[in-house]
Amino acid sequence: MTAKLINGAEIARQIREEIKQEVIQLKAKHNLVPGLATVLLGADPGSLSYITGKEKTARELGFYSERIDLPETTSQKDLLSLIEKLNKEPKIHGILVQMPLPEHINESEVLYAIDPRKDVDAFHPVNVGKLMIGDADYLPCTPAGIQQLLIRSGVKIDGAEVVVVGRSNIVGKPIANILMQKNKGANATVTLCHTHTRDLASHTHRADILIVAAGKLKAVTADMVKEGAVVIDVGVNQIGTSTSGKRIIRGDVDFDAVKEKASMITPVPGGVGPMTITMLMLNTLKAAKLAAGLA
Ligand code: NAP
Repeated sequence: MTAKLINGAEIARQIREEIKQEVIQLKAKHNLVPGLATVLLGADPGSLSYITGKEKTARELGFYSERIDLPETTSQKDLLSLIEKLNKEPKIHGILVQMPLPEHINESEVLYAIDPRKDVDAFHPVNVGKLMIGDADYLPCTPAGIQQLLIRSGVKIDGAEVVVVGRSNIVGKPIANILMQKNKGANATVTLCHTHTRDLASHTHRADILIVAAGKLKAVTADMVKEGAVVIDVGVNQIGTSTSGKRIIRGDVDFDAVKEKASMITPVPGGVGPMTITMLMLNTLKAAKLAAGLA
């Protein structure tokens, strides 16, 4: 079997088009423009490229976008006062502080200071808790993107055996949580694996849907995958640099071998990656609608 590729770039493009149309309607009918503030401390090239992508996408979709670049030496107190100001700013519906933050900043304190209603990354404990009890306003972006890839590719999630490799707070735990909920696009039986899992392959072998977020090249090889499984590769591992200076990346799954066994698979790049920023935009749109009493 050669797997069908799940084209994340195309699915993300479709969702962005839907968002764009909704923004046009919101402006026309309610004079409402979703607003996103992006905050960057320092000039780390990776963070700079991520935040530029978020700001550019927000503008393309017709959002109001405010970019705040601060020196790396900004104090905790000054960053917290900026968040306080953004929390009160009615034009801003979503606040995104680009991680990682410099070492002198207490990341948790910064995340907890964001008004949960403007926490479009869905990292605030209030939003994490609401997800856990099945009452989420916002889903964290990468896991939400994974769920959309599955739904929009026609994968049957209800009743499926889902195995997740990785238990981070930003990918593994929330995707397990999302897919086990008693909800449409969920209702799966979920197993969560990590480095203390005994005999990883015995679990991955059972998976109808295998989601890999380990951050390790070839953490999953073909002998660990069931014939016909749907494989979602979240990993981003840099294996080199092209002559033009671009990062060459691969996922966590041994793609060439696994695609011969799986029924569907996400490529890296072009699979999960393009979905993350798109889901951030969807959360910002939802935040604007919630603030206006329209959701
Ligand atoms: P992380 O915080 O480093 O967590 C990795 C998890 O994988 C940990 O729970 C670890 O277990 C587990 N793990 C590592 N090696 C394993 C192995 N051989 N067998 C079983 N479990 C293993 O990583 P993350 O933030 O979740 O990110 C995972 C990958 O996804 C990274 O490559 C990251 O760059 C990528 N990512 C991509 C996107 C995107 O938009 N495309 C977004 C976020 C992350 P322990 O807990 O036991 O250590």
